[in-house]
Amino acid sequence: PFEVLVIGGGPAGVAASVYTARKGIRTGIAAERFGGQLNDTLGIENLPGTEYTEGPKLVADLERQVAAHDAIDAMNLAQASRLVPAREAGDWHEVHMENGAVLKARSLILSTGARWRALGVPGEQELRNKGVAYCPHCDGPLFKGKRVAVIGGGNSGVEAAIDLAGIVGHVTLIEYDGQLRADEVLQKKLRSLSNVDILTSAQTTRIAGKDKVSGLTWKHRESGQEHDLELEGVFVQIGLVPNTEWLKDSGIALSRHGEIEVDARGGTSVPGVFAAGDCTTTPYKQIVVAMGEGSKAALSAFDYLIRNESA
Ligand code: FAD
Repeated sequence: PFEVLVIGGGPAGVAASVYTARKGIRTGIAAERFGGQLNDTLGIENLPGTEYTEGPKLVADLERQVAAHDAIDAMNLAQASRLVPAREAGDWHEVHMENGAVLKARSLILSTGARWRALGVPGEQELRNKGVAYCPHCDGPLFKGKRVAVIGGGNSGVEAAIDLAGIVGHVTLIEYDGQLRADEVLQKKLRSLSNVDILTSAQTTRIAGKDKVSGLTWKHRESGQEHDLELEGVFVQIGLVPNTEWLKDSGIALSRHGEIEVDARGGTSVPGVFAAGDCTTTPYKQIVVAMGEGSKAALSAFDYLIRNESA
């Protein structure tokens, strides 16, 4: 058993484990994929103190920092499937793993992050990785010189369109709303690109293709008129979903979007269970925010442990 068990090995979970280890606390960290979303990130330029780094490099740095602490027991490719909270403060919480193992700890830090949201139209699932993509940094180069659509006009969609415009032949950005929602500076950049078309009030209704994507259909939301676009790739950029389905019957309070509700100290609705990063209600899903929240949750777990002797 662990004193603190961290579930999730992204920036939030790693920061938490380093903080608890430095308090001399025996810490476990279990992650389905160590590094989390950083694995899919290319350039990072907004991490204070680090002018420029890349996702995979930051993952390697975090891995090294975790390995340097004897107090941390790291478990990669370890997926949690169920949480059974302690009956009373100071008692053991149980985390049931997909492989059948049961991990016990007196305090938990949940940092399971988030993932891309799917569009939910015919053709999307069938053509996933056959032209339907979610990560422009990972898959953009596969569409060199080709025609693609980016669905979603928020920051991630517009960033993706700008990024892809430099690699692919042509980009059509499709936004459901009447206007783009991305920061003005990004929109300005997007409009300056000669190989980008922008469609607004446009609802994507179908992705077409047999073995690979050959086009999509969109409906103008005011006129109701349907249009077909011929293209080879579709990048879906319509937001993030928290990885909290496994907490459904745990008694941990979730928001209506499925985010773990946390207080100012990272505390959840269950004593001794803390949470941090993109899986929580804390706004601004960013690396430095996740790291800060992870550190905070770790200090709160420490505080909990010294106040609640083992039952
Ligand atoms: P995540 O990074 O999502 O990590 C979650 C961890 O939990 C992973 O290890 C995952 O495998 C694990 N996990 C999930 N479910 C389970 C389970 N059931 N059991 C066990 N483990 C589980 N932010 C910036 O600040 N700057 C940027 O430039 C930037 N660029 C980005 C580019 C892209 C393409 C993406 C996708 C994100 C970007 N972000 C950026 C956002 C940033 O990556 C996230 O805010 C940050 O990674 C959140 O950290 P996290 O630890 O909360 O979650």
